[in-house]
Amino acid sequence: MSLVKKTSITEGFLLFEQMSEHEQVVFCNDQETGLKAIIAIHDTTLGPALGGCRMQPYDSVEEALEDVLRLSKGMTYKCAAADVDFGGGKAVIIGDPQKDKSPELFRAFGQFVASLGGRFYTGTDMGTNMEDFIHAMKETKCIVGVPEAYGGGGDSSVPTAMGVLYGIQATNKMLFGKEDLGSAAYAVQGLGKVGYKVAEGLLEAGARIFVTDINEQSIKAIQERAHTTPGAVTVVGSDEIYSQEADVFVPCAFGGVVNDATMKQFKVKAIAGSANNQLLTEDHGRQLVEKGILYAPDYMINSGGLIQVADELYGANKERVLAKTKHIYNALLEVYQQAELDHITTVEAANKMCEQRMAARSRRNSFFSSSVKPKWDIRD
Ligand code: NAD
Repeated sequence: MSLVKKTSITEGFLLFEQMSEHEQVVFCNDQETGLKAIIAIHDTTLGPALGGCRMQPYDSVEEALEDVLRLSKGMTYKCAAADVDFGGGKAVIIGDPQKDKSPELFRAFGQFVASLGGRFYTGTDMGTNMEDFIHAMKETKCIVGVPEAYGGGGDSSVPTAMGVLYGIQATNKMLFGKEDLGSAAYAVQGLGKVGYKVAEGLLEAGARIFVTDINEQSIKAIQERAHTTPGAVTVVGSDEIYSQEADVFVPCAFGGVVNDATMKQFKVKAIAGSANNQLLTEDHGRQLVEKGILYAPDYMINSGGLIQVADELYGANKERVLAKTKHIYNALLEVYQQAELDHITTVEAANKMCEQRMAARSRRNSFFSSSVKPKWDIRD
């Protein structure tokens, strides 16, 4: 009896069609530890693929495959926009993070990463934490985002928040002709690891902020932080944050915040925050243009953490990371100007910029192909 279930030629073609934009997809199976993982390498034009590893109890392999293909493609654009020497990749482990984890499982995963010979670097994402990757690190050098004690850069929310503040400066420059943070009003949604630091930065610059969080402690902390400047902080309810009379909405809690319901409420001139996947659909990006609301593409403005992780390969250095994070200001301004010039959305302009960067590198790579090899195994 054959071990391989025969797939019809059409089904086989569908699979290749689904991964047609991707360079490589690796299915990892380890019976001893129960590891079932998929690694997707989308594009390595700019360097080895980089992307976190999710652990989730997916309902099916198809669902896991769809997720890893979509997320790895997103990483290609995120890396190109952040101007780091990495391409896009991602990994998913099919399993329940509460029940199915073990040190051996992550060591097995590390071995699969090692087998890719430096083509794929990974670290934590939803459902995985640094502890898991300390086990994986025993098997491969291709792990990033590790604790400071292991040579990592530490808390990534610090550069992420810095990047958001630089992004808001670029937004203000585009809106008001000056980058000054202090003369505008902001509606900050979420005062977690990133949002709190952004709110602090805005207050330090002398700005007025409306804030909301479901966590009372965070609200209390920001109020205490601003006790010397009465009126600087106004606390509003979770649903009221979208309709505040502020200049910039700063989403730092969760995705999908630009949707049909919120679109009707926005009175702001711009949206610039750290949350991932802020637009519920691409069409919401076009609706923002129609409403005259400037949108900072999330994958650009929140790339400070990625810049830190990519920089780990040169040895952790906080000053260098913050200096690189400053680049978000110029990149975003360029995207805003290009979008205005071409009458396209800022997301379309950002995607175009990334594709141009990859095309330029691709031309250089082919020109020098006989003498220059990609820098796989940077850590050697
Ligand atoms: P976090 O969990 O520390 O903070 C999220 C905050 O949002 C919490 O304080 C939470 O109480 C609050 N919140 C949740 N539901 C809310 C609601 N309905 N109304 C108001 N507040 C609510 O997360 P974080 O690390 O600060 O990340 C914030 C966002 O930025 C996320 O979307 C994350 O994916 C994205 N992001 C974070 C980083 C990073 O380096 N941490 C990097 C890139 C993107």
